[in-house]
Amino acid sequence: ARPEFEDINPSTEEVIETYEGHETGEVIDAVEKADDAFDGWSDRSIEERESLLADVAEVLRDNTDEYAETMTREMGKPVSEARSEVEKCAWVCDYYAERAGEHLQDDRIGTEPGARTYVSYEPLGVVLAIMPWNFPFWQVFRFAVPYLTAGNVGILKHASNVPGCALAIEEVFDRAGYPDGVFTTVLAETDAVEPMLEHDAVRAVTLTGSNRAGSAVGETAGREIKKTVLELGGSDPFVVLDDADVDEAARVGARSRNLNSGQSCIAAKRFVVHQDVYEGFLERFVEEVEALNVGDPTDEDVDVGSQARGDLRDELHGQVRDSVEAGAEAVVGGEPLDREGYYYPPTVLTDVPDGCPASEEELFGPVAAVFRVSDEDEAIDRANDSPYGLGASIWTDDVERGERVAGRIKAGSTFVNELVKSDPRLPFGGVKKSGYGRELGRDGIREFTNRKTVWVQ
Ligand code: NDP
Repeated sequence: ARPEFEDINPSTEEVIETYEGHETGEVIDAVEKADDAFDGWSDRSIEERESLLADVAEVLRDNTDEYAETMTREMGKPVSEARSEVEKCAWVCDYYAERAGEHLQDDRIGTEPGARTYVSYEPLGVVLAIMPWNFPFWQVFRFAVPYLTAGNVGILKHASNVPGCALAIEEVFDRAGYPDGVFTTVLAETDAVEPMLEHDAVRAVTLTGSNRAGSAVGETAGREIKKTVLELGGSDPFVVLDDADVDEAARVGARSRNLNSGQSCIAAKRFVVHQDVYEGFLERFVEEVEALNVGDPTDEDVDVGSQARGDLRDELHGQVRDSVEAGAEAVVGGEPLDREGYYYPPTVLTDVPDGCPASEEELFGPVAAVFRVSDEDEAIDRANDSPYGLGASIWTDDVERGERVAGRIKAGSTFVNELVKSDPRLPFGGVKKSGYGRELGRDGIREFTNRKTVWVQ
């Protein structure tokens, strides 16, 4: 039977629409259609594929409000942030329109006199993308723009709570003039993923989401010998050293933690603060958090909207409750808001003991855990004391010290005196349980290519 996707507005709890999905047979048809499109698409010149990106960017920019409203309606993010997300998707198009060809040029490598040896970057074929709801446009464009421009074709299996975004994105590529089959959305349940991965035409899979999903998909992909990029959770440390600008750190830290209503893999989640500035930082941080305007995400002045789903809001509250029972103190927030919609208030936890959810797990919502440390070494140990290794942010007046500390933190990216953010020009990804592989930049566009060695004597 066809699956049905009930689209619920998380800020009102109303059903917006029910979508009829694709059954497994139709999903496999989509894979085969994509495979049929691959030869023609990969035969085109890179310049031709680059130039289509200008059309994608134009469609995005011309319809910013419509796409932003779709995101806000389906997953509750503040509409002003949703508009910035559409603009960021257009930016990744601008970036690869200019740089894709350069990033995929043959790499000449001198070996022996008389031999011409180089590495060329060829597309693999059908790439399956399993994407989450938190940045429902950005996560998709971040994979699709480089991978399609490299000559691959893509199938999107988006999160079940954002079917409207999934279909809107397919329409963006359609309107921009992409040939049929180059980018396809399937509205499918997770049981359709295994048959897709088992299909010969699917050559690679990229997944952004939870460790549970990453590990399930990675297991099947491993069995099928398919290349994988996994971008999973994070519990990024935000390290405030004794010589940091505490005002600026508090301002940026509060922003990093609460962007996207706290639902970002690279949000600052564990604030690791030197004892000499602990009181000063905490006071300013609490002020910043208390000043956030929580409410209807369609309102232009709102900073924090609802959480994306009721079950996720409840899970987050369970983590807060367990942490408080273990000895943490909620100095701000800590109880779901008594109103319609899946709201959770910005929350600050202090005195967080080891072994509780706020120190061990990812808190995927607006909840900050603040830790006091006595020196730089303890700050580094605390920062590294997590199963995750996505990003880290270090605050200090001495940038050399910042770089030195950053060098000792096990993460896919480190930022000194700046919040962790993704940027089309720079590779993005994690270590440890945050996953592997890189998206964006030169490394990202090369991930799903055959790095072919060529020797001409
Ligand atoms: P999931 O990891 O379940 O969802 C992400 C994507 O994976 C969705 O498309 C989902 O489909 C799919 N998926 C889930 N399980 C499987 C499976 N076994 N096989 C194939 N595909 C699968 O995230 P949730 O929405 O449940 O969020 C839970 C937690 O995940 C969050 O609280 C957060 O910690 C983390 N997360 C991290 C993100 C990040 O940016 N790194 C983004 C989102 C969540 P479907 O929706 O149909 O289940």
